[in-house]
Amino acid sequence: SDHSLTYPRSPADMDWASLYPVYAVKGEEEQAFAAPGDSNPTTTQEQRKVKAISKNVEVADIGCGFGGLLFALAPKFPDTLIVGMEIRISVTEYVQEKARALRIQNASTNAYQNVSCIRANTMKFLPNFFHKAQLSKIFLCFPDPHFKQRKHKARIVSYTLNSEYAYVLRPGGIVYTITDVQDLHEWMKDHFEKHPSFERVEKVFEDGEGEEGEGMDECVRVMRTETEEGKKVERNKGMKYVACFRRLEDPAWP
Ligand code: SAM
Repeated sequence: SDHSLTYPRSPADMDWASLYPVYAVKGEEEQAFAAPGDSNPTTTQEQRKVKAISKNVEVADIGCGFGGLLFALAPKFPDTLIVGMEIRISVTEYVQEKARALRIQNASTNAYQNVSCIRANTMKFLPNFFHKAQLSKIFLCFPDPHFKQRKHKARIVSYTLNSEYAYVLRPGGIVYTITDVQDLHEWMKDHFEKHPSFERVEKVFEDGEGEEGEGMDECVRVMRTETEEGKKVERNKGMKYVACFRRLEDPAWP
């Protein structure tokens, strides 16, 4: 149940600094830094002081579980802030603790300062966490399949939720999906392909660069091998279905 969950009123109200303390903006620097998208006239400088960070989160792992993907991506994209979102309280705490421990172990290099986790039901209020076009990558790794027809509305891919992913993702940004359930793979493919803000990306670049999205092949590899579910499917010699979708530019108004 998610009745005890709280959500920021807007992205500017998120206390990002406590999640990424090394990136917290302080003092004079802070005065010059307006939290992006912060149009809330009631937000005081004092409030912002504990909340603002010098760069935005750009990568979100939706339903991150125990964070295998997060901790594998963090050293690969050391200058990018990465967040996991997870509904289960104990699992969220586990990921936060692990990030804390890895930061301490790697204090000399500042590694893992770029990764954290928040507790949230991502089916609700995603745009309260991220402003429009903030993210460059969204991962949907092994989402709960909700096999029965009457449970399909609980799937984290739907026309409505895809519109929310489109809102928080920048044009050119990528949604990465992976599942071992063929029916869910078809479902995710259909819903993203039908959505006017997305197109399927077929080609995975060998060198990890190029128009398909920075480090795309590497992200797909990490998603297949480093997620807890990916490892489980590997052990059971199951199939893994991958599909990636690019956020298109919005059409110009006539
Ligand atoms: N992504 C991880 C992986 O690939 O190993 C975990 C996959 S696990 C099958 C699905 C995860 O999504 C669970 O940890 C579950 O608690 C989480 N989850 C399900 N619905 C969610 C929601 N609405 N918001 C946030 N997390 C959710």
